[in-house]
Amino acid sequence: MLKIFFVAVVGSFFMTSLTAQAEINVFACEPEWAALAQELGGDKVQSFSATHAKQNPHFIRARPSLIAKARRADLIICSGAGLEVGWLPILVQKAGAAVQPGAVGHLMTSEYVPIIEKPTAIDRSMGDLHPEGNPHIHLNPHNILLIADELAKRLEAINPNNSKIFKERLLDFKTRWQKAITQWEQESYFLKGSAVVVHHKSFSYLIKWLGLNQVGSLEPKPGIPPTSLHLEKLLQQLDSDPADIIIRTPYDPADASDWLSKKSGTPPLALPYTIGGDGDTIDLFSLFDRSLALLIGAVVDQ
Ligand SMILES: [Zn+2]
Repeated sequence: MLKIFFVAVVGSFFMTSLTAQAEINVFACEPEWAALAQELGGDKVQSFSATHAKQNPHFIRARPSLIAKARRADLIICSGAGLEVGWLPILVQKAGAAVQPGAVGHLMTSEYVPIIEKPTAIDRSMGDLHPEGNPHIHLNPHNILLIADELAKRLEAINPNNSKIFKERLLDFKTRWQKAITQWEQESYFLKGSAVVVHHKSFSYLIKWLGLNQVGSLEPKPGIPPTSLHLEKLLQQLDSDPADIIIRTPYDPADASDWLSKKSGTPPLALPYTIGGDGDTIDLFSLFDRSLALLIGAVVDQ
């Protein structure tokens, strides 16, 4: 009896370690990439996000706990294009060879999508925070499709034994995602042309995809906090040319948008921005479902 128990315990321990080996450790800079890795990898992937929805991904600290996580990573997946320039290089420097720039385990998603708001050499309108163009790429669902293709390739290269599973999961995800895009585009068609003011240029890809009109930003330049002079100018602009909504992320301070909203009568709207941005946003699908429902609700209410 004891022998059987011993065999069972050793057996299950062995199985557990096999399962653990089969998992790819994914270190994502933002929740959207951790979620995509989970969609494509299922139980073959263990993903962790360095930031959560209430944190500004431009500005976090390279804490020792993050360094430890990065060291264990088989794949680092981030937006890139300068979004994490203040903290990611330190983490990568202290991590293993598998996740260094140029390695298969180093994936900067912005390299696989068309970047918008790229400043020209003499144009400083994008400030110091978006010098390579806008890095908030995940809010155009077509970008997610392009990145899914690349991510699946990386997962296969890192763990060829599960290649078939990754291929199947990619196909299944793309089929469901494409169907969702069609539906999102149908239901949001009438939002086209709606005038929006943003806090930071976090929503430019969503705005471009939906055909909204970004008429102003509370920050004079990306990363420069709103000034009273700039807000007064925006107020004058909205008085003569009203906007439909003022949108912000869960991590943008609400004071500037509340002030402008009170003065101009333009309703403020906090969108989830990423997974966990509100209680209903639990995965990539609900991120878009929820963002569109909130936008449609805000525009219809007027
Ligand atoms: Zn930004």
